This record gives sequence, C-alpha cells and structure tokens, in this order.
Amino acid sequence: MIMKQITEKTIELLDQNDELASFKNEFYVKNDSIYLDGNSLGLLSKRAEQSLLDVLNDWKEQGIDGWMGGKYPWFTLSEQLAEKLSPLVGAESKEVIVTGSTTTNLHQLVATFFEPQPGKTKILADELTFPSDIYALQSQLKLRGLDPATDLIQVKSKDGMTLEEDDIIEAMTDDVALIVLPSVLYRSGQLLDMERLTKEAHKRNIPIGLDLCHSIGAVPHDLSHWGVDFAFWCNYKYVNAGPGGVGGIYVNKKHFQKTPGLSGWFGSKKESQFDMDHTFDAEESAGGFQIGTPHMLSTAPLIGSLSIFEEATIEKVRRKSLNLTALLMDLLNQELNGEFQIVNPLEDRRRGGHIALKHNDAARICKALKDNGIVPDFRAPNVIRLAPAALYNSFRDVYDAVEILTKIMKTREYEKYENKREVIA
Ligand SMILES: *Cc1c(COP(=O)(O)O)cnc(C)c1O
Repeated sequence: MIMKQITEKTIELLDQNDELASFKNEFYVKNDSIYLDGNSLGLLSKRAEQSLLDVLNDWKEQGIDGWMGGKYPWFTLSEQLAEKLSPLVGAESKEVIVTGSTTTNLHQLVATFFEPQPGKTKILADELTFPSDIYALQSQLKLRGLDPATDLIQVKSKDGMTLEEDDIIEAMTDDVALIVLPSVLYRSGQLLDMERLTKEAHKRNIPIGLDLCHSIGAVPHDLSHWGVDFAFWCNYKYVNAGPGGVGGIYVNKKHFQKTPGLSGWFGSKKESQFDMDHTFDAEESAGGFQIGTPHMLSTAPLIGSLSIFEEATIEKVRRKSLNLTALLMDLLNQELNGEFQIVNPLEDRRRGGHIALKHNDAARICKALKDNGIVPDFRAPNVIRLAPAALYNSFRDVYDAVEILTKIMKTREYEKYENKREVIA
C-alpha cells in the first residue's frame, strides 16, 4: 500500500478541523503527559467535579431533605440520569436505569432472564470476554443446580484475539437458554455486529444480553431498534464518571412485566415504595431492576459527564474516535512498520475505541511509555492498548505518542525494565 506521508502539517489541519476540540479544556489533562487509558478509567471533567461537589453540598446543607429537596433530588436521580444516558445506548428513557456495577447488573439480569427448561439449560458466551462476566455466569449456573463445565459454552477464537460472528451464530443451538456477549472485546477492541447477532438469536428464540463496558461513550448503539433484550455496563471508562462510578442497565420494554430476579425496595413503584408493604410492586421500567439505595456520591459525577455528551453527541464522538485510531494505525505503519502486530480489526465498522498492539515485550514497553509521559495500558500476556479519547485527546497527542514510542523502540530503552506487569495493569 502506498501511503501519503503524514507530517506535522497534516496533524495541524486535523486539529484545526476538530469539531470537538474545545472539550479538551473541560478535562483535567496534564500538560506533561498524554493520557491514552480512557478505556480503563476516563479522566475527570470540571463539570463532573462540580456536580459531585453540588451533591456533597446538598448533603452538607440539607441532610435527609436532599432526597427530595437537593439541587438534583436524590430520590429520582437514577431515573433523571437514565434519560440523559439513553441516547448513548439508543433506547427509550424508561428502558434505562443508572444503577449497580457491571458485575452486579449482570447478576441481576441473568437472575431475571435465564429461564432454563429441560433440554435447554445452557448459557452461551465467548472465551475472550472479561473474566468477571464469566465468574458471574458460572455462579448463576451453580445457583440453579447446573454445572458450568457443561452448561457454559464459550465460543472459541481462531486467532486468540477476535471472534467470528459466524462461529457465534453456529453455537446458538437448541439447548441454549441465554446468550451474553460483549459489544466490544476488552483486549483487541473488536466491535461485534450486535444487530446481526440479536437477529440470529431471536430467530432461534433465545434472549440475548450485551456487555457495553467498552462501547458505551465511544460507539453509538441502537438497542431498542435492534430488539436487544438487555444490556449492562460501567460508566467509568469512556463515560468518565469516576473510579467505581455507578453503572447502568437497559431492559427492552417488552420485558417490563418480568419480575426482577433479585428484588429490592428501590425497584418499587416510586409512589408506593414508602408504604413499606411486604408485597413487592415493581416499577414497570428498567427502574424496577434497582435493588437498594442508590450510591449518590458515585452517581453524582455522571450529571456533569453526561451534560458533556449531550453537547458533543455520540455521533461526533464516534467520528473523531475513528479518525484518531485510524491516524494512530497509519503513524505506526509509517514509523514502526512490522515492529508491532496490530491485533484490533482494521475496518471502521469492526473497531471499537482503542488500538491493540501485540509484542513480546509489551509489559516493559508500557513501563517505558509511562516513564516518558504516555499513559497506555497493558493486558496480559502481551497486549498494549492505546485509547485516544475523542473528548480529551487531540490528533497532536496521537502524533506525539507515536514519536515517543518510536524513540523507545529504536533505542531499545524498554530493555532497561523488567518484562512483568504491575499489580494493576
Ligand atoms: C470493565 C469491565 C468490567 C468491570 O466490572 P465491574 O463490575 O465494573 O468491576 C466487566 N466487564 C467488562 C467487559 C469490562 O470491560
């Protein structure tokens, strides 16, 4: 392939034409470092900081009255925020609720949607998904007296990095009672064809749920239109809601009548919740899947964060994100051709928000990058993930990061470090 040389001039033009450039000033970005780890923990924005301080202040000034009288009344905040979040997943407001964490939400949804019958007892997942999802599925099977060794099917990857939709569809057999898949694979950044998989699952009458951790805030979704049965995610990656920030659930409205598998009083109809009756009367919306009192201090940053997405729009975020990752790959090919194996899919429609590079020295190359002011992340055993975030990374950031990586590789500076991951990598 003959590629036009990318120069600093090209980069200047890209930054000048960046319709989201102004949002960078809204985030706490360091002048002497380039953060490319927003797919693991998004950075703090000034708006998210302010909304957290506002909620703290209501607690300080109003005590218990903050539930109804605060600037953002706590009693309905999870529903208010679901309305703001719903455009990110392509759903109606009532189909979304801000609650829980990825893993607890998955437990809730499998407890609700997994209805094994004789001869139909299996859960279909994949072998590349995030471990917590697998642990949750294994324990849900055990709770029903089933054996994960035989009842959890994990679709195999041919290359150890990506999945073939055809292989997943082939595994949708008559004995499968539930399908749970990621939208974007956390290691390789592969974006699965969610619409096609949903259609194929439904042809076989199997409910399907999606883990959106690595796509929410980076990739648009159309869950309602596709008819996805349920989805769940965290908001601390591309949505920038802070470490341990409260996650989300989507339940298609055709399932609002379902009794939540794990019931709790915050799933009650709002008007009757404080009647304190012992008969559970679930809200007929995704809100019915809440369990206990919402974690206000870990929800509050979302208020500010989602106001940024409302202005930026997910369509523009996706467009810029694809341009950033395409530039990153072009520069890697130009400056470091053959040094790394690019293991994320190259096509736009199959690529999430990050680039994944395979290298035997990946762990220590990451350490060298960090010491040179670049924040990447490492995923065992040999993958470097680089995530330029559309809201706070510029095209110049990508250019500078590749320049530093090139220096590290050419001088073999990384050989000074031990090729072993840190506790958190
Ligand atoms: C980040 C991530 C998680 C984390 O789950 P928590 O319950 O938020 O700790 C789970 N699954 C996937 C796919 C993730 O990317």
